[in-house]
Amino acid sequence: SGIRSTGKQHIGNYLGAMLNYVALQDDYDCIYSVVDVHSLTTLEDTVGLRDNVLATALDLLAAGIDPERSILYVQSHVPEVVELATLLGMITPLSWLTRVPTFKDKVRMHPENVNYGLVGYPVLQTADIVLYKADTVPVGEDQLPHLELAREIVRRFNRLFGETFPEPHAKLTEAPMILGLDGVNKMSKSRDNHIELAATPEETERRVMTAVTDPQRTHRNVPGRPEVCNVYSLHAFFNAEKRPWVYEQCTTAGIGCVDCKKLLAEGINRALAPFRQRREELASRPEQLKKILADGAARAAVIARETLAEARDKIGLPAPYDC
Ligand code: SF4
Repeated sequence: SGIRSTGKQHIGNYLGAMLNYVALQDDYDCIYSVVDVHSLTTLEDTVGLRDNVLATALDLLAAGIDPERSILYVQSHVPEVVELATLLGMITPLSWLTRVPTFKDKVRMHPENVNYGLVGYPVLQTADIVLYKADTVPVGEDQLPHLELAREIVRRFNRLFGETFPEPHAKLTEAPMILGLDGVNKMSKSRDNHIELAATPEETERRVMTAVTDPQRTHRNVPGRPEVCNVYSLHAFFNAEKRPWVYEQCTTAGIGCVDCKKLLAEGINRALAPFRQRREELASRPEQLKKILADGAARAAVIARETLAEARDKIGLPAPYDC
């Protein structure tokens, strides 16, 4: 699986994907990459790209990705993926790519920036998967169409050139979509409705205080409706044992929203304290972080070179002349 190099991750990434990545290490040989090439489809992402790559890797390691058990590397450090994407692109009809829902969304949202890389995004994603002959890919519901497309590309390649890649299967993550502080949209940096994992306790509390609550609770004495309030939803992850009490207090106006948010911020800070400590320790040794990523890239490259050579051979490209 790849995680975009967007820099410091937020609690939506953590609950929705990262904890799952960590858990999968118990049952699978996992390969995780910080996908920096993918992030080039939107050019403003390249500002601070190098720092963002390292920040993303730091978050993954602090969350519990274990470089002894899993391979963690930076996508562009194994450039074989770009060559394989080119080869797969030759057998992928354009109509398969333009029907992908996320592509249509991007075209709608940024009609001025519909580039070749954007339409080819799922082909690069497919190359990322099949370069390692991965059989299982952890995905959220929204990524299912991309994985289905990867399977179609694999089937077509195998039919045209002989059995080469396994069809990757989806392992659906069970984590629910985490709404942002606006209580309406998915938590994301671009909407500025997020709480960074690596934020200080004070920053965390400041951010939580901006969360939108039940709009009908216009006064401290008016009972609230926890079921429509995202602060209440977030208590489920960070204050599970106190949640029934929060429900009762909210519906009887026993506590106000400020108290409720303070409680949530305390819960988040308590839950993330070990993560933040590990992150700080790792960040103080940048050379060690780079060594982990270099080792990961070296291990990934061994598999990648072998797969790419096989794909080139199956297609019928001449091997490099050795003379
Ligand atoms: Fe939401 Fe808590 Fe306010 Fe109730 S008391 S509306 S659950 S923030």
